[in-house]
Amino acid sequence: MDQCKEQELCIICEKERRDVLRIMDQPICTICEQDMVGVRVTDWVYDFYIARLKQIW
Ligand SMILES: [Zn+2]
Repeated sequence: MDQCKEQELCIICEKERRDVLRIMDQPICTICEQDMVGVRVTDWVYDFYIARLKQIW
């Protein structure tokens, strides 16, 4: 079993995943990334991220 790769928390589904991409320096799992097919990913993530930050603030 290969456990050497560290898990990261996907900012979309908030689950620990090993297969994550980095978009705008944010970890996005491949599952969420596939949901975004057809969308301009950086725009989508940017909007999501801003919305998330507004919730926190
Ligand atoms: Zn995800």
